[in-house]
Amino acid sequence: MIERVEQLRSKAEAEIAAAGSAEALQELRVRHLGRRAQLPQLLRGVAELPAEQRAAVGAAANQARHALEEMLERRAAELRSAELGSLLESDRVDVTLPGAPPQPIGRLHLLTATRRELEDIFLGLGFTVVEGPEVETVHYNFDALNHSPTHPARAPSDTFYVAPPAAAGRGEEDGASPGASGAASELVLRTHTSPMQVRVMESHPPPLYVVIPGRVYRPDSDATHTPQFHQIEGLAVDEDITLADLKGTLLAFARAVFGDAREVRLRPHFFPFTEPSVEVDVSCFNCEGRGFRADGARCHLCKGEGWLEVLGAGEVDPNVYAYVPTSERNAPGYDPERVQGFAWGLGVERIAMLKHGIPDLRLYYENDLRFLEQFG
Ligand SMILES: [Zn+2]
Repeated sequence: MIERVEQLRSKAEAEIAAAGSAEALQELRVRHLGRRAQLPQLLRGVAELPAEQRAAVGAAANQARHALEEMLERRAAELRSAELGSLLESDRVDVTLPGAPPQPIGRLHLLTATRRELEDIFLGLGFTVVEGPEVETVHYNFDALNHSPTHPARAPSDTFYVAPPAAAGRGEEDGASPGASGAASELVLRTHTSPMQVRVMESHPPPLYVVIPGRVYRPDSDATHTPQFHQIEGLAVDEDITLADLKGTLLAFARAVFGDAREVRLRPHFFPFTEPSVEVDVSCFNCEGRGFRADGARCHLCKGEGWLEVLGAGEVDPNVYAYVPTSERNAPGYDPERVQGFAWGLGVERIAMLKHGIPDLRLYYENDLRFLEQFG
């Protein structure tokens, strides 16, 4: 009888060890341990055995049943782990592989990259970046910047009017200050970033150190003019500000952009909203300011001048402060007897053209990848 138990046990063990799936194991469990299986039946028949055999056969059959149950559990666990392993193997994703199809890595447009580079320079000098509206009132675009009523920049040939210049030149009210009548209805696409000068002063008390990047618009289109372009305005207002502070600030800017050996020079000029006004030149980085190259050829970049014109600037005209009403937000206000300031406006396109030798402004906007991919 005991041999019979051992036979059943070893046969079942061999089959369980060979089982290849959870389903096969379940079938083996039924075949060897189920109600009709031989081992349980044998166990049930122990009572009918002669007394001297009962204990030994019962113990062997019980042992065999426990052993098989344990073995079934173990084998099931092995199969589960093997299945998980093969699933992980077949489902493996290598996240380091490039996407399919591989996508080219994008880059910033040269103008965006240049604007950010310039912003970083001025942030490093203690300026804050602010932005303003591109659709602007005539008040902020011209009047508050001290432009006379007859200033040529106001002409529709030089400025995009959004709303028609209804009141301009009609003399609706005798003696009305320029732009005061109908000013609210006169909207333009801003021709420079300078309108933000008065807007910022209206909402912030001095001392004020801001740069204002943004798009501006003028009805021009040729190799050196596009109807839309980008400027970065600078405005500093504080006590004891002089033209020397302007020059020092722009020298730091010029050296950061064009190299440590650069110098700047200021030439007298005129802008309605700065007094004195200057054009700012940077010594040419292409010829080290000599005007000619090492081989004796005239420098093509500065055309032999040794200097490159980069921007317009000046001390804020005291008249401009008169357009900044004192309010709670900007108290104590901008008293020209107490504060002075300087301002500049630079063209982002021009800086990038000089720095990268770009011959035609329109290249920026044609979106030809052969051009754009050379930068950044
Ligand atoms: Zn040069």
